[in-house]
Amino acid sequence: MTLIIENVHIAPVSGPEIPSGFLRIDGDTITELGPGQAPDVPGAERVDGAGCLATPGLVNTHHHLYQWASQGLAQDATLFEWLVALYEVWAAMDAEVVEGAATAALGWLALSGCTTSSDHHYIFPKGRGDLLAAEITAARAIGLRFHPARGSMDRGRSQGGLPPDVVVEELDDILAATAEAVDTYHDPSRSSMLRVAVAPCSPFSASGALMTESAALARDKGVRLHTHLAETLDEDEHCLEQFGLRPVDYMEKLGWLGPDVWLAHAVHLSDTDIAKLAATRTGTAHCPSSNGRLGAGVARVSEMLRQGANVGLGVDGSASSELTPLAGEMRQALLFQRARHGPQALTARQALELATLGGARNLGRQDELGTLEPGKLADVVLWRAGGPFHAAVADPVCALVLGAPPPVELVLVGGRTVVAGGELRTVAQDAAGRAGADAHRRLLRLARERGVTAARQVHGD
Ligand SMILES: [Zn+2]
Repeated sequence: MTLIIENVHIAPVSGPEIPSGFLRIDGDTITELGPGQAPDVPGAERVDGAGCLATPGLVNTHHHLYQWASQGLAQDATLFEWLVALYEVWAAMDAEVVEGAATAALGWLALSGCTTSSDHHYIFPKGRGDLLAAEITAARAIGLRFHPARGSMDRGRSQGGLPPDVVVEELDDILAATAEAVDTYHDPSRSSMLRVAVAPCSPFSASGALMTESAALARDKGVRLHTHLAETLDEDEHCLEQFGLRPVDYMEKLGWLGPDVWLAHAVHLSDTDIAKLAATRTGTAHCPSSNGRLGAGVARVSEMLRQGANVGLGVDGSASSELTPLAGEMRQALLFQRARHGPQALTARQALELATLGGARNLGRQDELGTLEPGKLADVVLWRAGGPFHAAVADPVCALVLGAPPPVELVLVGGRTVVAGGELRTVAQDAAGRAGADAHRRLLRLARERGVTAARQVHGD
C-alpha cells in the first residue's frame, strides 16, 4: 500500500525544509520525499497537502495518564503540597479509572499531533485490578506508539519518604511485577508499538535500593530507565538532608546517569549537573506547563542544548497541566527560555526539534522516529497552517510554534490514520472524552467513600 502526500510544506527536522513537495509512504515506512511533483505510482492513494505543514509526529516523553481523572484539584499548591493532597485520591484508583483516563488522555494527545507517548505509572494499590494492562488496552485502541514506564514507590512516610504508606509497595513485589511487565509487553522490534521502561518514581518516594535494583533489572533486560529529578527546590533540600547529595550527584552515585536514562523535569541544575548529563548522554523531559502550574521554576533548556545535552518535551500528568496539548508545549518551552534569556534563546525550529527528535532520543528511537527521512517510520502530522486564520502568519513553522497550534488535518502512525480532518478515527472521539469524564467522577466517588479530604473539598460534601 502506497500513500503519497503532495503539495505540502515539509519540515523534516533533519535536512532542509521543502516549501512545496511530496512524501511517499510504503506500508509503515517513509520511502521518499522531495520538492515538486510526486512520482506517478499506479494504485497509490494520494492526499492533497495544499495549505498544510508536514512534520514528524510529536513524541511525548513524560506523562501520568491516570491523572486525567484528577484534574483541577489542589490548584494553588507547590509540588509537595499537591502530592500530599493527591496521593490518597490516587490510592482509590482502579483499572476502570485508569482505562478511561488513559483513553481520553491519549486521544487528546493524538489530537495535538502526538504519535508516540510514554507514560509513568507509579501507583499500584492492591486489589484494584491490572492497571498496566488497562492503560495498554487504551493505547492499543487509540493507536499511538506507547512506552509505558512501570513506576514504583517503596519509601513511604514511615521510611522518611513523602507518600503515605498506603500507596507504596514492597521492593521485592515491585521488582517481580516490573520484570513481568517487561517480559509480557516489551517489543524491541523496529516498528514496535509497545516498549516498557523501568521507572521508580523519585528520590523522595523510592529507596536507594529500589533505584539500584531497578537499574540492574533494566540493564539486564535491555530496557530504558526513567524517573523524576530536580523538579523543585524542596527536592534539593530533601536530597541534601537525607542523602547528603544534590539530586544529580545522588543519581550518579546510584548508577543512574547514562544513555539509557531519561529524567523528567531537571529544572534545578548547576553548571556541573548540566555537564554531567551531557557527558553521560542522559536525556531530560522538559515539561514547562507543569513546571509553571506548580511554580517549580524554569529548566535551563537553552544552556543544556548548548552543552549538548538531549532535551525532549512532555506534558506531564494532567493533574498538574490540565488539558495541556503536546503541540502547545513547544510554544511554552520557547516562551520560558526567551522570557529568561532573550529572543534568541530558542527558535521555533529548535522547539519543533525538542518535540520530535529530542523526544525520540529520550526513548532510544532516534533511528526510527523523530524526523521525516526515507527509512524512518511513517509517523507524520499534517497541520492546517494555511487555514483561514493561520495563513496570516508568514512562516508555517512559526504558525505552528509561536501561536496557538493550527488544527491537525492528519495524524499517521506507521502510515495508519489515527486523526483525519481534526477528528479521531480509531475510536469515537466523543466516547473517548466521556471515558475520561466518567473516570474523573468514578475516582472522586471512590476517594470520597474512603474519606479523602481533597476529593470532598472540591465537591463541597
Ligand atoms: Zn511527572
